[in-house]
Amino acid sequence: MFKKINISKDTNLVFDTNIFLMGIDFNIVDNKIYTVPGVLDELNVDRYQTENIFILERINYGIQSNNLTIKIPETTFRDKVIKAAKITNDFPLLSDVDINLIALALELKLNLEEEVILFTNDYSMENVCLKLGVSFSPLGKDGISKIRFRKDIRCPACGERNPIGQKRCENCGTDLS
Ligand SMILES: [Zn+2]
Repeated sequence: MFKKINISKDTNLVFDTNIFLMGIDFNIVDNKIYTVPGVLDELNVDRYQTENIFILERINYGIQSNNLTIKIPETTFRDKVIKAAKITNDFPLLSDVDINLIALALELKLNLEEEVILFTNDYSMENVCLKLGVSFSPLGKDGISKIRFRKDIRCPACGERNPIGQKRCENCGTDLS
């Protein structure tokens, strides 16, 4: 049932809310990462704001340094997802954020013509992905182990590559933590 997925350097990753909550440092992931604005809203709700402050800071850093792109999918792709979800009977189980995440993955796949993998543990989302031919991976240890982490980190100010763990950029002194 599950297609064996391989993540290359050019594979685009779409993350749902849960993968951010797992606290992985996606700023050192080798791939381009995408998510939808609704995910940020879910992390930013008052109740979680204190707990998630580090995650939100990491996200802001990711956006500034171009590791993370927040994108609203085009309506055409949302419509395709809704249509597919109605066929598989998953539509009532999907939130607006869920639909946008699948739509974004579909849009990237069709528009960029590059590999895209949606990381999620939601069974209904996986079902709709199967229907639309969108690759997905569960989060867990197995899913994370497929992600390629960088050995160095690019300075957001000057672009210099610094070894991971370095506090300040070797070239310009910008704070990298
Ligand atoms: Zn620098």
